[in-house]
Amino acid sequence: MATKIILLPGDGIGPEITAPTLELLSAVGTNFDYEEHAFGGASIDAHGTALTDATLAACRAADAVLLAAVGGPKWDSTDPSRPRPEQGLLGLRKGLGLYANLRPVRPLAALYDASPLKREVIQGTDLLVVRELTGGIYFGEKTRTAEGASDLCAYSRVEVERIARVAFRAARRKVSSVDKANVLETSRLWREVVRELHGAEFAHVELEHVLVDNAAMQLISNPADFDVIVTENMFGDILSDEAATLTGSIGMLPSASLGDAGSPGVFEPVHGSAPDIAGLGVANPLAMFLSAALMLRHGLGMEAEAAAIESAVDRALADGLRTRDLGGSASTHEATQAVLSNL
Ligand code: NAD
Repeated sequence: MATKIILLPGDGIGPEITAPTLELLSAVGTNFDYEEHAFGGASIDAHGTALTDATLAACRAADAVLLAAVGGPKWDSTDPSRPRPEQGLLGLRKGLGLYANLRPVRPLAALYDASPLKREVIQGTDLLVVRELTGGIYFGEKTRTAEGASDLCAYSRVEVERIARVAFRAARRKVSSVDKANVLETSRLWREVVRELHGAEFAHVELEHVLVDNAAMQLISNPADFDVIVTENMFGDILSDEAATLTGSIGMLPSASLGDAGSPGVFEPVHGSAPDIAGLGVANPLAMFLSAALMLRHGLGMEAEAAAIESAVDRALADGLRTRDLGGSASTHEATQAVLSNL
């Protein structure tokens, strides 16, 4: 049976970076069965909800889900009763049981000077942010009255242990567990569970506990010191965007979201739908290409094809490819041709 991939191009630049990614996937010799679904704002327009039951069911039955980005000013609203594009992302993560979000951050030598940080600071950085994706404050009970609002942050032992295990397994030398244990009860539980799992199963890996405010500073002053960073949902959301700066552009960062073995993963760029440049043909497609590579590697076990895409991207950049976000003038089309010609 052909490998089934659900495509969720979403909104803004999403469709513009999805089409060239399919060209690239076919150029590395894959022959997937693609099924495209409206998602996010596009799905709100078509069906009144960011994620329909039919789309979720199709994703569940697929081998992998390739997602671009959602959102845009058209659907921005402070009215909590209106559907929002991001609800599609949250629904997909919950619906597929995707509790682990992996974001590799490996600035390429060719882009060291595109980073706002000094070359000496970023040189040698090769880290992985492992973010818990289905718990914490984003999913806790919400209340709203005319005079106030609240968001509940909750974590169970099981939720902390399974994400910590992903982090320890991915570590080559060290796990930095990030929390706010001096203030938050959920962080104190987090620290206890991570410490217990470390002692019981992963004593050979170095473990450090870092408070989130300190981690935010270390990430820009000494990023090469990190190997794997593991943290809860909201801290991970913020720290991984901060880590994105190291690469010179958010247009360079891919991510993988995984659940238990056997269920389909979702592969997507870290960036959003970039409504400010949508439709101009200047979006950087590289994060989407690298997300497709993560899909091949982590979702489909196609390591050779994944590595071929990654090295073609590396070589195109070494040859001088620069989209506007990297300080150059290459269009999405030119960037695609540059990567294709380096395959
Ligand atoms: P964004 O990532 O869309 O854009 C931030 C800045 O980076 C913009 O200047 C944009 O032009 C630039 N940028 C992003 N991706 C780029 C690319 N591939 N090539 C070139 N430049 C790129 O974040 P934002 O502006 O905060 O959010 C815009 C919309 O996207 C909002 O509706 C937000 O909710 C949504 N969003 C979606 C996701 C997602 O789908 N996973 C993630 C973040 C934000």
